[in-house]
Amino acid sequence: MGSVSLENVSKSFGPVKVIHNVSLEIDEGEFCVLIGPSGSGKSTLLRIIAGLEDVTSGQISIGGREVTSLPPKHRDIAMVFQTYALYPQMTVRENMGFALKLAGLPKAEITAKVDATARMLELEQLLDRLPKALSGGQRQRVSMGRAIVRNPAVFLFDEPLSNLDAKLRVQVRGEIADLHRRLQTTSAYVTHDQVEAMTLGQKIVVLRDGRVEQIGRPLELYDDPVNTFVASFLGTPS
Ligand code: ADP
Ligand code: MG
Repeated sequence: MGSVSLENVSKSFGPVKVIHNVSLEIDEGEFCVLIGPSGSGKSTLLRIIAGLEDVTSGQISIGGREVTSLPPKHRDIAMVFQTYALYPQMTVRENMGFALKLAGLPKAEITAKVDATARMLELEQLLDRLPKALSGGQRQRVSMGRAIVRNPAVFLFDEPLSNLDAKLRVQVRGEIADLHRRLQTTSAYVTHDQVEAMTLGQKIVVLRDGRVEQIGRPLELYDDPVNTFVASFLGTPS
């Protein structure tokens, strides 16, 4: 039960309106990419879905349940950040199990879930390490593991590849695609990168200045962009 629905969502910071009447549907199991230039409101929209920002007006539903005024922990989502946001003093195992521990799961169950997720992501050898002893790609994999282990209805990714070098970016992008094929978890994925959007997105939402320019499947946007702005993001690179 992981569909996501935004209805007429607007957001102001003080007097400045940064999200303007955004409506969008992410279907159960769908991988939805939000793309737009820096400052177009991608992170703010994701944080609104997560419950890390409240809305000024509009409604958000997850799995058919209205969550507009619920805190993040009651939204059945897990977020993966570009900065990884790992706890530096905790081992990989502790990082991955932390949310489950907070939720009060028995130790044996936490261990079993962390072990299964570590196997899936090939992190078994790294479970006792601290984040500082990991490469960037490994840190991002742990950050994904921490989301996966909670088995949420929805994954939210905020530019998860942007701190990786070009080669790793391609590799981790492939891992994210594999993961989605395997788990089929509803996902909202923020990027400003055309290739990421076209390779990962089943649905793409193009944002500019806090407004939706166009929503469609990758080839629809590629073949039939509504304006030159969309074309410049997703059309033939010039
Ligand atoms: P993106 O992720 O697409 O780069 P953001 O969602 O981070 O864009 O930002 C959208 C706009 O909202 C920007 O103009 C940014 O300066 C503004 N903004 C974001 N967060 C805050 C905040 N906490 N306070 C004030 N303005 C903010
Ligand atoms: Mg951002």
